[in-house]
Amino acid sequence: MSRKIDQILVIDVEATCWQGKPPPRQESEIIEIGVCLLDCHSHSVVKTESILVKPEHSTVSEFCTELTTLTQEQVDQGISFTEACERLQKRYLSHQRVWASYGEYDKNQFQKQCQSFGVEYPFDSRHINVKTWLALAHSLQKEVGMLKALFLLKLSLQGTHHRGVDDAANIARILSQLLWNQDRRFNRYLD
Ligand code: AMP
Ligand code: MG
Repeated sequence: MSRKIDQILVIDVEATCWQGKPPPRQESEIIEIGVCLLDCHSHSVVKTESILVKPEHSTVSEFCTELTTLTQEQVDQGISFTEACERLQKRYLSHQRVWASYGEYDKNQFQKQCQSFGVEYPFDSRHINVKTWLALAHSLQKEVGMLKALFLLKLSLQGTHHRGVDDAANIARILSQLLWNQDRRFNRYLD
């Protein structure tokens, strides 16, 4: 299988969550896979999709709805985690493309959930951690969250923060700026 370098698959997942630890017999599971294809020639976003995933071992808490806006009713319409992983491979060639996310959370959650569901990990080994890369590229003293990253790069937040599909598109814009507009520095904003 050929390793492609045409488009970068930017991923941001939302998962069931609670204020503090999960309740007994529940565990955090992916409920949305935000997908964004960043084209390496036009340097722009060419496709986005929100894949809603129905959790099997947990439910959407009020806290989770407040954070993500996603409700139990919405994710009940979603597909299974197994189907979602198959879709990533078929529709987005996720095994062949470089993929990116903000931090390590999304990768860790995928690895953990693939293992516990006995599903094949859908991604290539080439993963870009945009959070670390931004901090290195701009000599920050520490890694910053996505909202601060947008601010530092003078990009506006588009859509709803903590919705996977919108987060993925915002992360793609950060990555695009890092990859292809490297001359725009923001050192004067740093402490
Ligand atoms: P994000 O990509 O920042 O929207 O976060 C991804 C997932 O991390 C969310 O869907 C939650 O499962 C979890 N998460 C993020 N922020 C919090 C928080 N403040 N409290 C509990 N879980 C959180
Ligand atoms: Mg998110």
